[in-house]
Amino acid sequence: MSRIEFKNVRHAYPPAKGQELVYALKEVSQVWEDGGAYALLGPSGCGKTTLLNIISGLLTPSEGSILFDDQDVTQLPTADRHIAQVFQFPVVYDTMTVFDNLAFPLRNRGIAEARVAERVTEIAEMLDLSDRLMQRASGLTSDGKQKISLGRGLVREDVNAILFDEPLTVIDPHLKWQLRSKLKQLHRQIGVTMIYVTHDQVEALTFADKVVVMHDGGVVQVGSPVDLFNKPKHTFVGYFIGSPGMNVLPCKLDKGQPVFANNLLSSGYPADTDLSGKLEIGIRPEFVRFAEDGIPVEIEKVEDLGRYQVVTVKHEAALIKMVVSEDQVIPSESPQIQFDPDNLRIYRDDWAVEANDA
Ligand code: ADP
Ligand code: MG
Repeated sequence: MSRIEFKNVRHAYPPAKGQELVYALKEVSQVWEDGGAYALLGPSGCGKTTLLNIISGLLTPSEGSILFDDQDVTQLPTADRHIAQVFQFPVVYDTMTVFDNLAFPLRNRGIAEARVAERVTEIAEMLDLSDRLMQRASGLTSDGKQKISLGRGLVREDVNAILFDEPLTVIDPHLKWQLRSKLKQLHRQIGVTMIYVTHDQVEALTFADKVVVMHDGGVVQVGSPVDLFNKPKHTFVGYFIGSPGMNVLPCKLDKGQPVFANNLLSSGYPADTDLSGKLEIGIRPEFVRFAEDGIPVEIEKVEDLGRYQVVTVKHEAALIKMVVSEDQVIPSESPQIQFDPDNLRIYRDDWAVEANDA
């Protein structure tokens, strides 16, 4: 097992004729601690698969280096990196039995047949494949085939890390939940570094100790699920994590305090905060409430989600989401709202301003 480090890694795929060079990975410097459970979260096209393929060696980055425990592996072929990778769609040998599919990565490395049988039995049990070991893989549903793919990723004992690239995409929703808990449990048991790619925040937050949020070819924040919720460093994180996401509203500053559409707001920022650039406030819907002496709004929409309500209000051109309790009465006469000063953050050019670096 090892600690994996990216040093100024950038990658551009060869451009099509007449097109200019675009970096799919802009510049990533990032450490994956040995034994960590990481989720790599971001929308489609942000560079997640590119990053995984650079770790496993399927791709050599255009610039920068990759270290495993301080050894430079940038030019090392896949086979010498000891990385197991599970892809989005099943990779199975249809004509082989389930057993032989699971045994393949071990036999390939010359593991003794007795140990192969032990490992395969163990992994099959975990994935509920025990009673199908002698069947041909071709007879399995796509769920079953993806379980084999997962099993092939998990069966080896000599790996530095296991990479999962949206492995549950093709899996039935209820089985998805079950398999995800299994992976988490397995991580606790074997303690090998796992990097789990997903575009689904719920998957990321339930699997990982650390979530690496990617946006547009770069890593914008690494943190625990709680950090990402409470202290989004980038407006994208605020918007992407949470349901509904953070409200991001244009603002100006007056003696250090944010002003949103002529409404002076209180915040935790000092009076000497002075910034230039694109300025915005970020406030989560959970920290917007109805109050006297607030910002006048119109109610646009009320969605009753059982334990809470999501209310969309409008001030001038801006739409603001609020999350309020199920018993909150929605004011019908000139409603006004306030933002909780302790949970209001200022963003400059999309990056959070810390109260002490203003
Ligand atoms: P993700 O896995 O987050 O959806 P990818 O890493 O697959 O993102 O892709 C990142 C960007 O690189 C996208 O714009 C994608 O179109 C581009 N890309 C991915 N693979 C290739 C390739 N083989 N050739 C050219 N462009 C690619
Ligand atoms: Mg991908």
